[in-house]
Amino acid sequence: MTRFAFAFTLAAVAAFAAPENFATSAGTLQLTPIQHASVMIQAGGKVLYIDPAQGKYDGLPQADYILITDIHGDHLVPAVVEKLKKAETVIVAPKAVSDKVAGAKVLSNGEKTDIGPFSVEAIPMYNMKRGPAAGQLYHDKGRGNGYILTYGGRRLYFSGDTEAIPEMKELKRIDVAFVCMNLPYTMTPQEAAEAVRAFHPAIVYPYHYMGSDLNAFAKALDGSGIEVRLRNWY
Ligand code: ZN
Repeated sequence: MTRFAFAFTLAAVAAFAAPENFATSAGTLQLTPIQHASVMIQAGGKVLYIDPAQGKYDGLPQADYILITDIHGDHLVPAVVEKLKKAETVIVAPKAVSDKVAGAKVLSNGEKTDIGPFSVEAIPMYNMKRGPAAGQLYHDKGRGNGYILTYGGRRLYFSGDTEAIPEMKELKRIDVAFVCMNLPYTMTPQEAAEAVRAFHPAIVYPYHYMGSDLNAFAKALDGSGIEVRLRNWY
């Protein structure tokens, strides 16, 4: 499917992803969807990027913090990290990413760290069944990190690339969730919705969803009490 055809199917969705504002006990957190899995967060006078890889970065501010989930090119582009980095930028990443990004602070699944006004917890992200060949998975358990980012008492979850793993279903007290879906690499909208029902965030945004039926995702969450926010990330 061409990108044009895909954009057309999203005609009901906002034409271009505008910044989203969230009230917190420490003031407003503003999140700007850049593209696919790439986001910029501004809060407390600080700038944090997650997976700055896709989309355009000209004119965007330098990073105080960068979180990276995995080694694949839609999550890690070393040249973009270099472009956004300044001398004091703190980069948090799993070991496999830190091998490719000089100076990154390694955070493994289950570990937590504080960076300025943010707390970061690394959550597993992995395939249970999908891979490029028999006996292989696109994302092996332990290699990549999803993240829970806490600011001003609000907990934002970024799934990274994952199937509907038990660790996601067991998440607690998530205010805002960003959940991937796309085949063959992660999961279907229905699988994503089932996982989201289980951990029941207040708000969920599909992201990293190229080629997925967002309406199927939204429909599967009908009546759940979870607010589904569809935005155009492409
Ligand atoms: Zn990906």
